[in-house]
Amino acid sequence: LEPWEDPNAEPYVRIEGVTKRFGTFAAVDGVDLNIYRSELFALLGASGCGKTTLLRMLAGFEQPSEGRILLDGQDMTALPPHARPVNMMFQSYALFPHMTVAQNVAYGLKQDGVPRAEIRKRVDSMLELVQLGAWAKRKPHQLSGGQRQRVALARALVKRPKLLLLDEPLAALDKKLREQTQFELMNIQDEVGVTFVVVTHDQEEAMTLSTRMAVMDQGRVMQVGTPTSIYEFPANRFTADFIGSINMVRARVLRVEGDTAILESPELACELAVAHHGTPLTAGQEAWVAVRPEKIAAERDDTGGPTAPGRNTLRGQVRDVGYLGDSSVYRVDVGGERLIEVTHPNVLRSLEREIDWDDPVLLSWSPQAALVLTA
Ligand code: ATP
Repeated sequence: LEPWEDPNAEPYVRIEGVTKRFGTFAAVDGVDLNIYRSELFALLGASGCGKTTLLRMLAGFEQPSEGRILLDGQDMTALPPHARPVNMMFQSYALFPHMTVAQNVAYGLKQDGVPRAEIRKRVDSMLELVQLGAWAKRKPHQLSGGQRQRVALARALVKRPKLLLLDEPLAALDKKLREQTQFELMNIQDEVGVTFVVVTHDQEEAMTLSTRMAVMDQGRVMQVGTPTSIYEFPANRFTADFIGSINMVRARVLRVEGDTAILESPELACELAVAHHGTPLTAGQEAWVAVRPEKIAAERDDTGGPTAPGRNTLRGQVRDVGYLGDSSVYRVDVGGERLIEVTHPNVLRSLEREIDWDDPVLLSWSPQAALVLTA
């Protein structure tokens, strides 16, 4: 049982009804979040959604206009940054250029008056952990971007904070290095067991890194959950659309048959069957049916026939093909100016596409592959 699934588990960080106003504008608007010990929790959202402001309130750089923040049972709301058992790793890393790697990492401990011998021991073991033992005497400008990132991480962790805040920790790295560093960051976090809160606008990064994430929009939390639960069961149209790609069509509920809802889409001129997973639905209600591109099967169809041959089945014509190497994306015109996006893994080695531009195709998916959204 994961702590967030256990009603008796005590949250490590409690964000209770937190609002931050700048003038009359609420950058963070009534946020409630529970984060558990040793989680790697991501705050994900587009620029301006309020994730950095929320992180800064955890650090103590901003004061909430309303609400409170507790860490390990202690109310931190009124504490200044230096009095909190919290550390922050900045996007810029903010390393001291004239100091060596070891001096950078030691800096905070020195400030705190930790004895020399202990500083040495802790700095050594921290540099070991981030695999920079051999680089202790180098200066930051002699390091690669990835190594500088690890120095910043070591410096933030060496003080053994209860909570480490990371503001876009991988944003300064190029794509390949970022992917590799994600796994290093996860391994280091796992090793030290410190609770991490990471701010990112990059959904893939949040999905790969986090135990759970909060998807934010306009100062509010739209959904909290594990990456898989958010991807597979988005709670609303915002999250469904923000995470990954999704085809979404308006539909009207006809009836509910056991686990399955039957809806009618005027736009697609067909009936849709969707596993409703307990979503309360009544006949006549307007809703949205959503299907991810990789959950749709596409096959060549030269037989012609009616536009919509059955439930969850559409005829169409390929308008665009995007080759991505590991997969291909098709945009299929299913009539009514509607394009449905379908992705397919390219499993077999081939220079020819099974389905190409202008091909007539038959699209289909199972009720379990689709979602019904009412918000
Ligand atoms: P980004 O990724 O671009 O940093 P964000 O999601 O982290 O975006 P915030 O930096 O938290 O968003 O900002 C949220 C909103 O609050 C923005 O509209 C921003 O302009 C506003 N804001 C942030 N700080 C202040 C401030 N000190 N004074 C006035 N407005 C602010």
